[in-house]
Amino acid sequence: MSMIRYSVIPDKNPREILLLRGTGCAYKLCTFCDYHEDSSQDLASNFQVNKEAISKVTGKFGILEVINSGSFNELDEDTMNLLVETCARLHIHTIHFECHWLYRRFIPALRARFAAVNTRVVMKQGIETFDYEYRRDVMKKGINEPDPAKLAEGFEECCLLFGLPGQTYESMINDVETGLKYFNRVCINTMTANNAPLQPDPEVVRICKEEVIPRYLDNDRVDTLLENTDFGIGGEE
Ligand code: SF4
Repeated sequence: MSMIRYSVIPDKNPREILLLRGTGCAYKLCTFCDYHEDSSQDLASNFQVNKEAISKVTGKFGILEVINSGSFNELDEDTMNLLVETCARLHIHTIHFECHWLYRRFIPALRARFAAVNTRVVMKQGIETFDYEYRRDVMKKGINEPDPAKLAEGFEECCLLFGLPGQTYESMINDVETGLKYFNRVCINTMTANNAPLQPDPEVVRICKEEVIPRYLDNDRVDTLLENTDFGIGGEE
């Protein structure tokens, strides 16, 4: 069995999506995360995995999202070249990547690289919550910036993570509304059990699913994921 690395998201900002493999998150300290297990230091092997996934892209919507369980700069150079070539060949006008706050200095060069083939880069940051102390002390996210306006500099989209101990209906609504104020789009991820130290609180997950997410189902600027495989990638095939 191998991991599903290509999918199509047909509604809300229709796009193709790729889950690529990089060298892995260099940070690795977030207490809720074990995503960085999908990685390898073998660049040639990563490229082979990524090449197969990228070969499935058709350009049907002109929009491609790339995630890689970390930040875009952890992808190998052959993969990046193939993404640029694919965007040019299939006339993909917009490509989305993810990036941790720590690597924001690498974003302008990435934008320039894709602008050369007329592709706009949209950058997503995993902010998880706008509660600075919770993000720093409980999530250990490694973002040393409390000001949402500054967090949005150089980023168009943010991810939020709900369903964790201590979060409330009010805190989750405040996070979404803050995200919508400073970013073009917000992606709500619902925490699911994994191998990380910080695990979901079932009552907070219930509030998220039954009271928070329904408020945003019709909002085109909000993506909602109840499982981290809801975009159609990350499961086994
Ligand atoms: S959430 Fe992102 S930055 Fe944090 S450990 Fe996981 S992959 Fe790394």
